[in-house]
Parts: sequence; structure tokens; C-alpha cells
Amino acid sequence: MKIQNRIALIFTFLTAGIILSLSVFLYIFASESISNSFFHRLEVRSDIVGHAALHKNKSQTSIYYDIKEKHLGDLPDEQHRIIFHNDFKKADSLKKKLPLPQTFYDAIVRKQPARFFHNDTSYVGLNIIQPGENIIVISSAVDLYGLAEMENLKNLLIVGFCISLVFVFTFGKFFSIQIFQPIRRIIRNVKGISAHNLNQRLMVDSSKDEIADLSKTFNDMLDRLEITFEIQNNFVSNASHEFKTPLTIISGEAQLGLSVPGIPDNVRDSFRTIFRESEKMEHLTNSMLSLAQTGFDGKKEQWEEIRIDELILSVKGTADQIIPANKVEINFDQLPEDERKLVIIGNETLLKAAFSNIVLNSCKYSDNAPVHIVIRSEDNYVLVEITDEGIGIPDREIAQIFVPFFRASNTEKYKGYGIGLPLTNNIIKLHQGSIVVKSEVEIGTRFTVFLPFI
Ligand code: ADP
Repeated sequence: MKIQNRIALIFTFLTAGIILSLSVFLYIFASESISNSFFHRLEVRSDIVGHAALHKNKSQTSIYYDIKEKHLGDLPDEQHRIIFHNDFKKADSLKKKLPLPQTFYDAIVRKQPARFFHNDTSYVGLNIIQPGENIIVISSAVDLYGLAEMENLKNLLIVGFCISLVFVFTFGKFFSIQIFQPIRRIIRNVKGISAHNLNQRLMVDSSKDEIADLSKTFNDMLDRLEITFEIQNNFVSNASHEFKTPLTIISGEAQLGLSVPGIPDNVRDSFRTIFRESEKMEHLTNSMLSLAQTGFDGKKEQWEEIRIDELILSVKGTADQIIPANKVEINFDQLPEDERKLVIIGNETLLKAAFSNIVLNSCKYSDNAPVHIVIRSEDNYVLVEITDEGIGIPDREIAQIFVPFFRASNTEKYKGYGIGLPLTNNIIKLHQGSIVVKSEVEIGTRFTVFLPFI
């Protein structure tokens, strides 16, 4: 799960917990206060009824009832049970009938407030004492209004809780997206940086927050990486340069030796071997030099508009010179109608070297069997497909063919150094393109080069 979603969820859970606790607290508080007030109202009525019962005089009794009727009124399902002193029988039968706990009766005896709530009904018990007389009044009533109020409050709290959850999650998501915006920008920028454009840096805004710190730290790391790459690159370039002069001298001397008339055959053979091997070494150092130059950045190269179909034609020309027996065929049937889809921005020399490597490999590894080249366009890319009917590349090894000096296990019969494809890959990447390879042993190989057109 993405961190931004996790933050939104944690935020929602936390807030939900707080809202839920508040709602429960509010509900309990409201319920306590409503039931206390109802108990109080019931106690007042119970007190009046008790005092009325204590008076033997009928007119006084009716005064109490008048007051109750006029000023207080009846509560829903209001009932009063009066137990006179020593009326144990009634006390026993009421005890059996009413669902009241022993603590309720104990409180009445101790003359403390006796209150109990059962099945929506509130019960109060009073012990009224007057000189010479003592009665117990147990009253009950149903707080219909209070129950309805509590039900309303409960529904309101549940609906409020659900709505606030939706709001909290939406806001949480929105804020986490906002918070992670700069991080996503950094990820996008970092993804665009590779060995080919190590000179690029992340944008550091003026704020002194952690994001600016992160960008700065990353830029510092890129500085160090760039220096390391440059040192390595210069080393390979310098070493290749240093090799070039002695190699030229060796091959020159070998040629000179070969031109001397009358030298013995075995000496001539030695000169030939020296000449051949020094030529190979020269080719290898040249390839390494190119690899080092393209592997780093495109700053040294000259860029221009290039038509891919023309470039491929000139590659075919090169192949004809190097391997006259080649069977390279270019298929122009799928060329895009819009010519602009064939034009790319790039360096002609480098691209020619890249495509020549692929095409010459196809001829080499198929022993000059037919090689088909198709040029077409797809989305924003012009595609060049080079298909041969050669030895193919073993499945496990396809991923490594762009690693410098790697050669597949089925190439013993063929000469090579494993530098051509890494160089080609660097050149294509330098042009913001990519290469896809599909191959089957003993069936053939297809290289598809994608290059973005302008
Ligand atoms: P090499 O000088 O060995 O040809 P490359 O860098 O050009 O070096 O190619 C790397 C490896 O990729 C080769 O050694 C070979 O195993 C494999 N390869 C490249 N092109 C082909 C192809 N068309 N058919 C089969 N194998 C290929």
C-alpha cells in the first residue's frame, strides 16, 4: 500500500476513534442527565402521593392530589405503591411482583435515594416518616419523551459519525496527496537520471524543509557519482588512446617486415600473425574508446535531424562493403505515410555505428542467411526491426548481451569481443530510445529498436 494511502487510513482511524469516544461520552452524559431529571420528577410525585396517603383527613388528601394534578400532571404509565408500616404481606407480594434488586430496598430502609431503571421503566422508592406514622412509596413511570430523545440523539450521532468518516477520509487523502506531491516530483526526476545524463540535478526550492534537504542530499550524491564516472571514463579513454600509438607502430612495423623481399617463410608467417593480431587489438581499443565516450553523456556529440530510412540504407551500404555476401533486405512497405514520423534528432555517426553493429551481428551469427529489416512507426516512436535466421541466443543469456565483454555460450565458432551491443545500447539510450530482443536458439533473433520521432 502506498504511504499516502496508509497515512490517510491512519488519520481516518485515529479521528474515527476520537469521534466515537466523544459520541459515546455525549450519549452517556445525555442519558444520565435525562434519567436523573426524570427520577427527580417521579420522586416529587411520589413524595406528594406519600404525604397525601399519610393524612387520614380526606379533604387534606384531596388538596395534595389537586396540587399534583394542577401543577405536575401525570407521567406516562405512572403508578404508586404505598406500603404502610407493618404491612409485611403487601411488602412481600410487591417484592415478588416488581423487578427490583435487594439494594433498592436496602436504600429505602437506609432512607437513601432508591432509583432503578428496568425495561424502559424508571422506579423510585421513598421512606416517608411523620410522627406516629411511617410509609414506603414505590413509584414507577415510563419516560417516553426521554426515551424518544435518546433514540434521536443515538441516530444523530451514528449518522454524524458516518458522515464525518467520509469527510475525514476524503480530507486525509487530499492532504496526503498534497504532502507527497514534492516526493512524487523527486521520484519522477530521479527516474529520469541515468548514467547517460548524470549532469542533471534535482530542483531544490528555497524552503528549508526536509524535501529541500532530500533534494540537496541527492544532488550531492549525484555530484560524487558524476566525478566517479568521469574518472572511470577518462581512465578507459586515456588507456585506449595510450594503446593506439604503440599498436599502430606494431602493425606498421609488421607490414614493413612483410614487404622485405626474400625473408624466410616462417618469419613471414610471424609478421602476418603480428599484423593480424595488432589489427584486432586496434579494433578492440577503438570500440572501447567509443563505448567509453558514449556511455557517459551526450555533451560531446553533434545532434541533427536524421531520417531513419536513409540512415538504414547507408547501414546496408556499409554491410555490403564489409560482408559482400550478405543477404540484408530492407522492407519499406510499412513506412508511415507521414514522413515526419521517420525523423529523429540524433548523431548520425553514432546511430550508424549502432545499427551497423546489429545488422553485422545478424549476418555474422546467421552465416549470411537472409536478414530482414522493417521500418515502421508506433505511438511516438519509429521502430526498426532487424530479424535474422541465425543461431539465436539462449534464453537465460538474453538479459546479459548488453553487458560489456559478455558473449553467449553458443558463439565459440564466431569471432567477437562482446563490445558491439553494449555500445549500441548506450547509443540508443543516449537518443532516449530502447532495444527489445526476442530470440530462439537455432531459429533466429529479432532486435527491435525504438527511437522517439520529433
Ligand atoms: P560480439 O563481438 O561477440 O558479437 P556483441 O556485443 O555485438 O559482441 O554481441 C554480444 C553477444 O550477443 C554476442 O556475443 C552474441 O552472443 C549475442 N548476439 C548478438 N547479436 C546476435 C544475433 N543476431 N544472433 C545471435 N546472437 C547474437
